[in-house]
Amino acid sequence: ARERLAELLEGFGLAADTPLSNWIDGGLVAGDGEQITLTNPATGEALVSYHDAGATLIERATQAATRGQREWMALTASERGRRMHAALRGLEGHEEALAQLESVVAGKPIRDCRAEVGKVREMFEYYAGWCDKQHGEVIPVPTSHLNYVRHVPYGVVGQITPWNAPMFTCAWQLAPAIAAGNGAVLKPSELTPFSSVVIAMLLETGGQGLPKGLINIVNGLGKTTGAALTDHPTISKLVFVGSPQSGRMIAEAGARRLVPSVLELGGKSANIVFADAKLDEAVAGAQAAIFAAAGQSCVAGSRLLIERSVFEQVTTRLARAAEQIEVGLPSEEATRMGPLQNSRQFDQVMRMIDAAVAAGARLLTGGKRPAGLPEEAQGYFIAPTVLVDVTPDMEIAQQEVFGPVLVAMGFDDEAEAIRLANETRFGLAGAVWSQDVARAHRVAGQLRAGTVWINSYKAISVMSPFGGFGDSGFGRSSGLEGLREYTVPQSVWVET
Ligand code: NAD
Repeated sequence: ARERLAELLEGFGLAADTPLSNWIDGGLVAGDGEQITLTNPATGEALVSYHDAGATLIERATQAATRGQREWMALTASERGRRMHAALRGLEGHEEALAQLESVVAGKPIRDCRAEVGKVREMFEYYAGWCDKQHGEVIPVPTSHLNYVRHVPYGVVGQITPWNAPMFTCAWQLAPAIAAGNGAVLKPSELTPFSSVVIAMLLETGGQGLPKGLINIVNGLGKTTGAALTDHPTISKLVFVGSPQSGRMIAEAGARRLVPSVLELGGKSANIVFADAKLDEAVAGAQAAIFAAAGQSCVAGSRLLIERSVFEQVTTRLARAAEQIEVGLPSEEATRMGPLQNSRQFDQVMRMIDAAVAAGARLLTGGKRPAGLPEEAQGYFIAPTVLVDVTPDMEIAQQEVFGPVLVAMGFDDEAEAIRLANETRFGLAGAVWSQDVARAHRVAGQLRAGTVWINSYKAISVMSPFGGFGDSGFGRSSGLEGLREYTVPQSVWVET
Protein backbone atom coordinates (compact mmCIF):
# COMPACT_ATOMS: atom_id res chain seq x y z
CA ALA A 1 0.00 0.00 0.00
CA ARG A 2 2.93 2.30 0.75
CA GLU A 3 4.28 1.99 -2.79
CA ARG A 4 0.81 2.27 -4.28
CA LEU A 5 0.18 5.48 -2.32
CA ALA A 6 3.56 6.94 -3.36
CA GLU A 7 2.66 6.21 -6.99
CA LEU A 8 -0.76 7.83 -6.64
CA LEU A 9 0.59 10.91 -4.87
CA GLU A 10 3.26 11.31 -7.53
CA GLY A 11 0.65 10.88 -10.22
CA PHE A 12 -1.16 13.91 -8.84
CA GLY A 13 2.10 15.88 -8.56
CA LEU A 14 2.12 15.88 -4.76
CA ALA A 15 5.55 14.15 -4.60
CA ALA A 16 5.80 10.82 -2.82
CA ASP A 17 8.35 11.55 -0.13
CA THR A 18 6.94 14.09 2.38
CA PRO A 19 4.07 15.08 0.08
CA LEU A 20 3.03 18.64 -0.62
CA SER A 21 0.03 18.69 1.64
CA ASN A 22 -1.63 22.06 1.04
CA TRP A 23 -3.38 23.73 -1.86
CA ILE A 24 -2.91 27.47 -1.43
CA ASP A 25 -3.37 30.28 -3.96
CA GLY A 26 -3.56 27.89 -6.87
CA GLY A 27 -0.44 25.88 -6.02
CA LEU A 28 0.77 22.88 -4.03
CA VAL A 29 2.65 23.94 -0.92
CA ALA A 30 4.56 21.89 1.68
CA GLY A 31 3.61 22.18 5.35
CA ASP A 32 5.97 24.14 7.59
CA GLY A 33 5.24 22.68 11.02
CA GLU A 34 5.57 19.40 12.90
CA GLN A 35 5.75 16.10 11.08
CA ILE A 36 2.61 13.96 11.05
CA THR A 37 2.89 10.26 10.18
CA LEU A 38 -0.08 8.37 8.79
CA THR A 39 -0.64 4.68 9.41
CA ASN A 40 -2.21 2.25 6.98
CA PRO A 41 -5.54 1.40 8.68
CA ALA A 42 -5.62 -2.08 7.11
CA THR A 43 -2.09 -3.21 7.96
CA GLY A 44 -1.04 -0.96 10.84
CA GLU A 45 2.20 -0.03 9.05
CA ALA A 46 3.52 3.53 8.68
CA LEU A 47 2.24 4.91 5.38
CA VAL A 48 3.58 8.40 4.74
CA SER A 49 4.61 11.58 6.61
CA TYR A 50 3.87 15.23 5.91
CA HIS A 51 4.16 18.53 7.75
CA ASP A 52 1.49 20.46 9.60
CA ALA A 53 0.51 23.89 8.18
CA GLY A 54 1.27 26.73 10.62
CA ALA A 55 -0.05 30.29 11.01
CA THR A 56 2.03 31.66 8.09
CA LEU A 57 0.36 29.30 5.65
CA ILE A 58 -3.07 30.06 7.06
CA GLU A 59 -2.33 33.74 6.48
CA ARG A 60 -1.36 33.01 2.87
CA ALA A 61 -4.47 30.91 2.35
CA THR A 62 -6.84 33.54 3.73
CA GLN A 63 -5.22 36.26 1.64
CA ALA A 64 -5.52 34.10 -1.46
CA ALA A 65 -9.17 33.37 -0.65
CA THR A 66 -9.84 37.08 -0.25
CA ARG A 67 -8.37 37.84 -3.69
CA GLY A 68 -10.05 34.80 -5.27
CA GLN A 69 -13.42 35.79 -3.80
CA ARG A 70 -13.18 39.33 -5.23
CA GLU A 71 -12.42 37.96 -8.65
CA TRP A 72 -15.28 35.45 -8.30
CA MET A 73 -17.83 38.08 -7.31
CA ALA A 74 -16.76 40.30 -10.22
CA LEU A 75 -18.30 37.67 -12.51
CA THR A 76 -22.03 37.49 -13.17
CA ALA A 77 -24.00 34.91 -11.22
CA SER A 78 -24.66 32.83 -14.33
CA GLU A 79 -21.00 32.92 -15.22
CA ARG A 80 -20.15 31.59 -11.74
CA GLY A 81 -22.59 28.71 -12.34
CA ARG A 82 -21.04 27.95 -15.74
CA ARG A 83 -17.58 27.97 -14.21
CA MET A 84 -18.56 25.61 -11.41
CA HIS A 85 -19.80 23.19 -14.06
CA ALA A 86 -16.62 23.72 -16.08
CA ALA A 87 -14.50 23.05 -12.98
CA LEU A 88 -15.90 19.52 -12.86
CA ARG A 89 -14.11 18.76 -16.13
CA GLY A 90 -10.98 18.81 -14.00
CA LEU A 91 -12.09 15.61 -12.28
CA GLU A 92 -12.58 13.71 -15.54
CA GLY A 93 -10.17 10.84 -15.97
CA HIS A 94 -8.95 11.15 -12.36
CA GLU A 95 -11.90 9.62 -10.52
CA GLU A 96 -10.41 6.14 -10.18
CA ALA A 97 -7.01 7.37 -8.94
CA LEU A 98 -8.76 9.65 -6.45
CA ALA A 99 -10.85 6.73 -5.17
CA GLN A 100 -7.73 4.56 -4.88
CA LEU A 101 -5.86 7.29 -2.99
CA GLU A 102 -8.67 7.66 -0.48
CA SER A 103 -9.08 3.92 -0.09
CA VAL A 104 -5.44 3.53 0.95
CA VAL A 105 -5.35 6.51 3.32
CA ALA A 106 -8.82 6.24 4.86
CA GLY A 107 -8.94 2.43 4.84
CA LYS A 108 -12.35 2.50 3.16
CA PRO A 109 -13.47 -0.22 0.75
CA ILE A 110 -12.65 0.83 -2.81
CA ARG A 111 -16.29 0.55 -3.93
CA ASP A 112 -17.34 3.03 -1.20
CA CYS A 113 -14.59 5.44 -2.31
CA ARG A 114 -15.78 5.30 -5.92
CA ALA A 115 -19.29 6.14 -4.76
CA GLU A 116 -17.90 9.04 -2.73
CA VAL A 117 -16.14 10.51 -5.78
CA GLY A 118 -19.52 10.40 -7.53
CA LYS A 119 -20.97 12.48 -4.67
CA VAL A 120 -18.33 15.17 -5.24
CA ARG A 121 -19.57 15.62 -8.78
CA GLU A 122 -23.22 15.57 -7.70
CA MET A 123 -22.73 18.29 -5.11
CA PHE A 124 -20.89 20.65 -7.43
CA GLU A 125 -23.48 20.12 -10.15
CA TYR A 126 -26.35 20.79 -7.76
CA TYR A 127 -24.89 23.96 -6.27
CA ALA A 128 -23.66 25.24 -9.66
CA GLY A 129 -27.35 25.36 -10.54
CA TRP A 130 -28.08 27.62 -7.58
CA CYS A 131 -25.55 30.32 -8.58
CA ASP A 132 -28.01 32.38 -10.64
CA LYS A 133 -31.12 31.49 -8.65
CA GLN A 134 -30.38 33.21 -5.36
CA HIS A 135 -32.74 36.11 -5.88
CA GLY A 136 -33.89 38.22 -2.97
CA GLU A 137 -37.33 39.50 -2.01
CA VAL A 138 -39.16 42.79 -2.02
CA ILE A 139 -40.86 43.50 1.32
CA PRO A 140 -44.07 45.59 1.21
CA VAL A 141 -42.95 47.90 4.04
CA PRO A 142 -45.58 50.33 5.43
CA THR A 143 -43.62 53.47 4.45
CA SER A 144 -42.80 55.17 1.17
CA HIS A 145 -39.65 53.07 0.77
CA LEU A 146 -38.76 50.33 -1.63
CA ASN A 147 -37.27 47.65 0.61
CA TYR A 148 -35.52 44.66 -0.83
CA VAL A 149 -33.39 41.85 0.57
CA ARG A 150 -30.25 40.48 -1.04
CA HIS A 151 -28.36 37.37 0.01
CA VAL A 152 -24.73 38.47 0.25
CA PRO A 153 -21.75 36.18 0.85
CA TYR A 154 -19.79 36.30 4.12
CA GLY A 155 -16.48 36.76 2.31
CA VAL A 156 -14.01 34.08 3.34
CA VAL A 157 -15.28 31.05 5.24
CA GLY A 158 -13.34 28.50 7.30
CA GLN A 159 -14.33 24.83 7.06
CA ILE A 160 -13.13 21.87 9.11
CA THR A 161 -13.94 18.28 8.20
CA PRO A 162 -13.49 14.76 9.71
CA TRP A 163 -11.79 11.59 8.47
CA ASN A 164 -14.80 9.33 7.95
CA ALA A 165 -16.02 10.84 4.66
CA PRO A 166 -13.30 13.27 3.60
CA MET A 167 -14.26 13.73 -0.06
CA PHE A 168 -17.97 13.88 0.67
CA THR A 169 -17.64 16.48 3.43
CA CYS A 170 -15.12 18.52 1.40
CA ALA A 171 -17.47 18.88 -1.60
CA TRP A 172 -20.52 19.12 0.68
CA GLN A 173 -19.18 22.36 2.13
CA LEU A 174 -17.00 23.80 -0.66
CA ALA A 175 -19.75 23.68 -3.30
CA PRO A 176 -22.39 25.77 -1.44
CA ALA A 177 -19.71 28.11 -0.07
CA ILE A 178 -18.54 29.17 -3.52
CA ALA A 179 -22.01 28.98 -5.10
CA ALA A 180 -23.02 31.57 -2.50
CA GLY A 181 -20.07 33.73 -3.56
CA ASN A 182 -17.50 33.05 -0.85
CA GLY A 183 -13.83 32.17 -0.91
CA ALA A 184 -12.94 29.16 1.26
CA VAL A 185 -10.15 27.75 3.39
CA LEU A 186 -10.84 24.15 4.33
CA LYS A 187 -8.95 21.96 6.78
CA PRO A 188 -9.54 18.23 6.38
CA SER A 189 -8.78 15.78 9.17
CA GLU A 190 -5.04 15.34 9.74
CA LEU A 191 -5.68 11.61 9.20
CA THR A 192 -7.03 12.00 5.65
CA PRO A 193 -5.27 15.07 4.23
CA PHE A 194 -4.70 14.37 0.54
CA SER A 195 -8.04 13.79 -1.19
CA SER A 196 -9.29 17.32 -0.46
CA VAL A 197 -6.03 18.79 -1.80
CA VAL A 198 -6.42 16.79 -5.01
CA ILE A 199 -10.09 17.73 -5.39
CA ALA A 200 -9.34 21.46 -4.97
CA MET A 201 -6.41 21.23 -7.35
CA LEU A 202 -8.35 19.38 -10.06
CA LEU A 203 -11.35 21.70 -9.79
CA GLU A 204 -9.32 24.89 -9.75
CA THR A 205 -6.90 24.04 -12.50
CA GLY A 206 -8.25 21.18 -14.59
CA GLY A 207 -11.47 22.82 -15.66
CA GLN A 208 -10.11 26.34 -16.06
CA GLY A 209 -13.23 27.47 -14.27
CA LEU A 210 -12.43 28.83 -10.84
CA PRO A 211 -10.24 31.83 -9.96
CA LYS A 212 -6.87 31.03 -8.43
CA GLY A 213 -7.10 31.08 -4.65
CA LEU A 214 -10.89 30.78 -4.45
CA ILE A 215 -10.55 27.47 -2.62
CA ASN A 216 -7.63 26.57 -0.39
CA ILE A 217 -6.89 23.40 1.55
CA VAL A 218 -4.65 23.50 4.61
CA ASN A 219 -3.61 20.37 6.46
CA GLY A 220 -2.56 19.74 10.01
CA LEU A 221 -3.74 19.01 13.52
CA GLY A 222 -6.82 20.58 15.04
CA LYS A 223 -4.92 22.27 17.84
CA THR A 224 -2.41 23.91 15.45
CA THR A 225 -3.71 24.35 11.88
CA GLY A 226 -7.37 24.12 12.94
CA ALA A 227 -7.02 26.64 15.76
CA ALA A 228 -5.05 29.06 13.54
CA LEU A 229 -7.90 28.87 11.01
CA THR A 230 -10.76 29.37 13.47
CA ASP A 231 -8.92 32.31 15.10
CA HIS A 232 -7.98 34.05 11.87
CA PRO A 233 -9.58 37.52 11.64
CA THR A 234 -10.43 37.16 7.94
CA ILE A 235 -12.66 34.13 8.51
CA SER A 236 -16.21 35.36 8.96
CA LYS A 237 -18.10 32.07 9.15
CA LEU A 238 -17.08 28.66 10.49
CA VAL A 239 -18.51 25.39 9.29
CA PHE A 240 -17.48 22.32 11.22
CA VAL A 241 -18.13 18.63 10.66
CA GLY A 242 -16.82 16.36 13.42
CA SER A 243 -17.27 15.32 17.04
CA PRO A 244 -19.27 17.23 19.66
CA GLN A 245 -16.11 17.70 21.74
CA SER A 246 -14.24 19.54 18.95
CA GLY A 247 -17.45 21.23 17.80
CA ARG A 248 -17.77 22.90 21.18
CA MET A 249 -14.22 24.28 20.81
CA ILE A 250 -14.98 25.60 17.32
CA ALA A 251 -18.18 27.30 18.50
CA GLU A 252 -16.26 28.82 21.44
CA ALA A 253 -13.51 30.09 19.13
CA GLY A 254 -16.18 31.60 16.90
CA ALA A 255 -17.99 33.14 19.86
CA ARG A 256 -14.79 34.88 21.02
CA ARG A 257 -14.68 36.72 17.67
CA LEU A 258 -18.49 36.85 17.25
CA VAL A 259 -18.25 34.66 14.19
CA PRO A 260 -21.23 32.33 13.62
CA SER A 261 -20.80 28.62 13.13
CA VAL A 262 -22.58 25.63 11.68
CA LEU A 263 -21.90 22.42 13.56
CA GLU A 264 -22.52 19.02 11.96
CA LEU A 265 -21.69 16.64 14.82
CA GLY A 266 -22.13 13.05 15.89
CA GLY A 267 -25.19 10.90 16.46
CA LYS A 268 -26.73 7.97 18.30
CA SER A 269 -29.55 7.36 15.91
CA ALA A 270 -32.50 5.15 16.78
CA ASN A 271 -33.82 2.65 14.28
CA ILE A 272 -37.31 1.62 15.44
CA VAL A 273 -38.76 -1.68 14.24
CA PHE A 274 -42.44 -2.35 14.95
CA ALA A 275 -43.76 -5.91 14.81
CA ASP A 276 -45.93 -5.01 11.80
CA ALA A 277 -42.90 -4.02 9.68
CA LYS A 278 -41.75 -6.04 6.67
CA LEU A 279 -39.08 -7.77 8.71
CA ASP A 280 -36.87 -8.88 5.80
CA GLU A 281 -36.49 -5.27 4.75
CA ALA A 282 -36.12 -4.03 8.31
CA VAL A 283 -33.30 -6.50 9.03
CA ALA A 284 -31.49 -5.63 5.79
CA GLY A 285 -31.98 -1.92 6.48
CA ALA A 286 -30.80 -2.19 10.08
CA GLN A 287 -27.70 -4.07 8.99
CA ALA A 288 -26.72 -1.48 6.37
CA ALA A 289 -27.59 1.32 8.78
CA ILE A 290 -24.90 0.30 11.24
CA PHE A 291 -22.31 -1.79 9.39
CA ALA A 292 -21.79 0.32 6.25
CA ALA A 293 -18.51 2.23 6.58
CA ALA A 294 -17.79 -0.02 9.59
CA GLY A 295 -20.18 2.13 11.59
CA GLN A 296 -18.00 5.20 11.06
CA SER A 297 -20.90 7.27 9.86
CA CYS A 298 -22.53 10.16 11.70
CA VAL A 299 -26.00 8.80 10.83
CA ALA A 300 -25.18 5.18 11.73
CA GLY A 301 -28.28 3.43 13.06
CA SER A 302 -26.48 2.48 16.24
CA ARG A 303 -29.52 1.87 18.49
CA LEU A 304 -31.99 -0.70 17.23
CA LEU A 305 -35.29 -0.48 19.10
CA ILE A 306 -37.43 -3.55 18.46
CA GLU A 307 -40.99 -4.33 19.52
CA ARG A 308 -40.64 -7.12 22.08
CA SER A 309 -42.83 -9.67 20.26
CA VAL A 310 -40.27 -9.81 17.40
CA PHE A 311 -37.12 -8.96 19.38
CA GLU A 312 -35.67 -12.46 19.45
CA GLN A 313 -36.41 -13.06 15.77
CA VAL A 314 -34.96 -9.75 14.55
CA THR A 315 -31.79 -9.86 16.64
CA THR A 316 -31.06 -13.48 15.74
CA ARG A 317 -31.49 -12.78 12.02
CA LEU A 318 -29.42 -9.64 12.31
CA ALA A 319 -26.56 -11.43 14.07
CA ARG A 320 -26.52 -14.10 11.33
CA ALA A 321 -26.57 -11.38 8.63
CA ALA A 322 -23.72 -9.54 10.39
CA GLU A 323 -21.62 -12.69 10.24
CA GLN A 324 -22.09 -12.87 6.46
CA ILE A 325 -20.60 -9.40 5.78
CA GLU A 326 -17.41 -9.58 3.72
CA VAL A 327 -14.84 -7.94 5.98
CA GLY A 328 -11.46 -7.54 4.32
CA LEU A 329 -8.75 -5.38 2.80
CA PRO A 330 -10.08 -2.07 1.44
CA SER A 331 -8.35 -2.65 -1.89
CA GLU A 332 -10.34 -5.85 -2.60
CA GLU A 333 -13.36 -5.43 -4.85
CA ALA A 334 -15.36 -7.93 -2.77
CA THR A 335 -14.81 -6.12 0.53
CA ARG A 336 -17.95 -4.63 2.02
CA MET A 337 -16.48 -3.60 5.36
CA GLY A 338 -12.91 -2.48 6.02
CA PRO A 339 -11.00 -1.62 9.18
CA LEU A 340 -11.59 1.30 11.51
CA GLN A 341 -9.63 4.30 10.34
CA ASN A 342 -7.14 4.72 13.17
CA SER A 343 -5.78 3.18 16.36
CA ARG A 344 -7.47 5.72 18.64
CA GLN A 345 -10.83 4.80 17.15
CA PHE A 346 -10.08 1.08 17.40
CA ASP A 347 -9.07 1.36 21.07
CA GLN A 348 -12.12 3.45 21.85
CA VAL A 349 -14.55 1.01 20.21
CA MET A 350 -12.98 -2.03 21.91
CA ARG A 351 -13.03 -0.24 25.26
CA MET A 352 -16.72 0.61 24.87
CA ILE A 353 -17.62 -2.98 23.93
CA ASP A 354 -15.70 -4.33 26.95
CA ALA A 355 -17.33 -1.78 29.26
CA ALA A 356 -20.77 -2.71 27.95
CA VAL A 357 -20.15 -6.41 28.56
CA ALA A 358 -18.82 -5.63 32.04
CA ALA A 359 -22.01 -3.66 32.70
CA GLY A 360 -24.18 -6.66 31.80
CA ALA A 361 -24.68 -6.46 28.02
CA ARG A 362 -24.42 -9.71 26.06
CA LEU A 363 -22.59 -10.19 22.75
CA LEU A 364 -24.72 -11.94 20.12
CA THR A 365 -21.86 -11.71 17.65
CA GLY A 366 -18.58 -9.85 17.11
CA GLY A 367 -16.73 -7.92 19.80
CA LYS A 368 -13.37 -9.07 18.50
CA ARG A 369 -11.18 -9.19 15.40
CA PRO A 370 -12.96 -10.95 12.53
CA ALA A 371 -11.82 -14.45 11.65
CA GLY A 372 -10.33 -15.35 8.28
CA LEU A 373 -8.59 -12.09 7.42
CA PRO A 374 -5.53 -12.27 5.16
CA GLU A 375 -2.11 -12.33 6.84
CA GLU A 376 -1.26 -8.69 6.14
CA ALA A 377 -4.52 -7.39 7.64
CA GLN A 378 -2.96 -6.58 11.00
CA GLY A 379 -4.72 -3.19 11.21
CA TYR A 380 -7.80 -1.92 13.01
CA PHE A 381 -10.42 -4.54 12.15
CA ILE A 382 -13.41 -5.25 14.39
CA ALA A 383 -16.07 -7.78 13.44
CA PRO A 384 -19.66 -6.54 13.05
CA THR A 385 -20.94 -6.57 16.61
CA VAL A 386 -24.46 -6.95 18.03
CA LEU A 387 -25.15 -6.41 21.74
CA VAL A 388 -28.37 -7.29 23.60
CA ASP A 389 -29.39 -7.04 27.27
CA VAL A 390 -28.52 -3.37 27.01
CA THR A 391 -30.21 -0.83 29.27
CA PRO A 392 -30.75 2.79 28.20
CA ASP A 393 -28.50 4.15 30.93
CA MET A 394 -25.40 2.24 29.74
CA GLU A 395 -22.59 4.20 28.08
CA ILE A 396 -22.95 2.02 24.97
CA ALA A 397 -26.61 3.12 24.66
CA GLN A 398 -25.83 6.82 25.16
CA GLN A 399 -22.44 7.65 23.63
CA GLU A 400 -21.49 7.55 19.96
CA VAL A 401 -19.33 4.45 19.35
CA PHE A 402 -18.40 5.29 15.75
CA GLY A 403 -17.67 1.67 14.99
CA PRO A 404 -19.52 -1.48 13.80
CA VAL A 405 -21.43 -1.91 17.03
CA LEU A 406 -25.19 -2.23 17.27
CA VAL A 407 -27.09 -2.17 20.54
CA ALA A 408 -30.57 -3.70 20.47
CA MET A 409 -33.25 -2.80 23.02
CA GLY A 410 -36.87 -3.91 23.27
CA PHE A 411 -40.05 -1.86 23.68
CA ASP A 412 -43.69 -2.71 24.40
CA ASP A 413 -45.58 0.11 22.73
CA GLU A 414 -45.30 3.24 20.61
CA ALA A 415 -44.91 5.57 23.58
CA GLU A 416 -42.00 3.57 24.95
CA ALA A 417 -40.34 3.46 21.51
CA ILE A 418 -40.53 7.24 21.22
CA ARG A 419 -39.30 7.78 24.77
CA LEU A 420 -36.31 5.46 24.26
CA ALA A 421 -35.48 6.99 20.87
CA ASN A 422 -35.41 10.50 22.32
CA GLU A 423 -33.52 9.49 25.46
CA THR A 424 -30.16 10.76 24.22
CA ARG A 425 -28.37 14.10 23.96
CA PHE A 426 -27.92 13.52 20.22
CA GLY A 427 -30.54 14.21 17.55
CA LEU A 428 -29.13 13.57 14.12
CA ALA A 429 -31.24 10.86 12.49
CA GLY A 430 -33.65 8.03 13.09
CA ALA A 431 -35.91 5.57 11.32
CA VAL A 432 -39.28 3.92 11.74
CA TRP A 433 -40.15 0.54 10.23
CA SER A 434 -43.89 -0.19 10.13
CA GLN A 435 -46.59 -0.94 7.59
CA ASP A 436 -49.06 1.20 9.52
CA VAL A 437 -48.77 4.48 7.62
CA ALA A 438 -50.45 6.60 10.25
CA ARG A 439 -48.26 5.24 13.01
CA ALA A 440 -45.07 5.67 10.97
CA HIS A 441 -45.81 9.36 10.38
CA ARG A 442 -46.99 9.86 13.97
CA VAL A 443 -43.77 8.41 15.39
CA ALA A 444 -41.55 10.22 12.84
CA GLY A 445 -43.12 13.52 13.87
CA GLN A 446 -42.21 12.93 17.50
CA LEU A 447 -38.56 12.01 16.99
CA ARG A 448 -36.12 14.71 17.97
CA ALA A 449 -33.89 14.12 14.95
CA GLY A 450 -32.85 16.25 11.98
CA THR A 451 -33.52 13.42 9.51
CA VAL A 452 -36.10 10.65 9.81
CA TRP A 453 -36.57 7.74 7.44
CA ILE A 454 -39.66 5.58 7.14
CA ASN A 455 -39.15 1.98 5.96
CA SER A 456 -35.70 2.98 4.76
CA TYR A 457 -32.37 4.09 6.17
CA LYS A 458 -29.61 6.47 5.06
CA ALA A 459 -31.32 7.92 1.99
CA ILE A 460 -29.47 11.22 1.66
CA SER A 461 -29.47 13.86 -1.04
CA VAL A 462 -27.64 17.13 -1.48
CA MET A 463 -31.07 18.59 -2.26
CA SER A 464 -32.55 17.98 1.19
CA PRO A 465 -31.49 19.83 4.38
CA PHE A 466 -29.34 17.88 6.80
CA GLY A 467 -28.31 18.61 10.37
CA GLY A 468 -28.98 17.91 14.01
CA PHE A 469 -30.69 18.72 17.27
CA GLY A 470 -28.88 18.88 20.63
CA ASP A 471 -25.35 17.44 20.70
CA SER A 472 -25.64 16.63 16.99
CA GLY A 473 -25.13 20.33 16.31
CA PHE A 474 -26.95 23.24 14.73
CA GLY A 475 -27.34 24.87 11.35
CA ARG A 476 -28.04 22.92 8.17
CA SER A 477 -26.09 21.61 5.20
CA SER A 478 -27.42 20.55 1.77
CA GLY A 479 -30.34 22.05 -0.09
CA LEU A 480 -31.29 25.70 -0.07
CA GLU A 481 -30.89 25.75 3.72
CA GLY A 482 -27.25 24.71 3.33
CA LEU A 483 -26.68 27.43 0.77
CA ARG A 484 -28.28 30.08 2.98
CA GLU A 485 -25.79 29.27 5.76
CA TYR A 486 -23.18 30.83 3.50
CA THR A 487 -24.99 34.14 2.96
CA VAL A 488 -26.26 37.00 5.08
CA PRO A 489 -29.56 38.73 4.26
CA GLN A 490 -28.96 42.41 3.55
CA SER A 491 -31.98 44.70 3.70
CA VAL A 492 -31.81 47.72 1.38
CA TRP A 493 -34.15 50.73 1.82
CA VAL A 494 -34.71 53.17 -1.03
CA GLU A 495 -36.65 56.38 -0.43
CA THR A 496 -39.18 56.64 -3.24
P1 NAD B 1 -12.90 15.35 15.40
O1 NAD B 1 -13.82 16.28 16.09
O2 NAD B 1 -11.85 14.66 16.19
O3 NAD B 1 -12.13 16.11 14.23
C1 NAD B 1 -12.82 16.78 13.20
C2 NAD B 1 -11.94 17.89 12.66
O4 NAD B 1 -11.77 18.89 13.65
C3 NAD B 1 -10.54 17.44 12.26
O5 NAD B 1 -10.18 18.10 11.08
C4 NAD B 1 -9.71 17.94 13.45
O6 NAD B 1 -8.37 18.17 13.10
C5 NAD B 1 -10.43 19.24 13.76
N1 NAD B 1 -10.23 19.78 15.10
C6 NAD B 1 -10.16 19.11 16.28
N2 NAD B 1 -9.99 19.98 17.29
C7 NAD B 1 -9.94 21.22 16.76
C8 NAD B 1 -9.77 22.54 17.31
N3 NAD B 1 -9.61 22.74 18.60
N4 NAD B 1 -9.77 23.58 16.46
C9 NAD B 1 -9.94 23.40 15.15
N5 NAD B 1 -10.09 22.19 14.57
C10 NAD B 1 -10.10 21.10 15.37
O7 NAD B 1 -13.82 14.31 14.64
P2 NAD B 1 -13.34 13.03 13.81
O8 NAD B 1 -12.91 12.01 14.80
O9 NAD B 1 -12.43 13.45 12.73
O10 NAD B 1 -14.71 12.60 13.12
C11 NAD B 1 -15.66 11.79 13.71
C12 NAD B 1 -16.83 12.61 14.21
O11 NAD B 1 -17.39 13.37 13.14
C13 NAD B 1 -17.95 11.74 14.71
O12 NAD B 1 -18.47 12.28 15.91
C14 NAD B 1 -18.99 11.83 13.59
O13 NAD B 1 -20.29 11.56 13.99
C15 NAD B 1 -18.80 13.24 13.15
N6 NAD B 1 -19.36 13.47 11.80
C16 NAD B 1 -20.49 14.21 11.66
C17 NAD B 1 -21.06 14.39 10.42
C18 NAD B 1 -22.31 15.18 10.25
O14 NAD B 1 -22.62 15.56 9.14
N7 NAD B 1 -23.07 15.44 11.31
C19 NAD B 1 -20.45 13.84 9.28
C20 NAD B 1 -19.31 13.09 9.44
C21 NAD B 1 -18.76 12.92 10.72
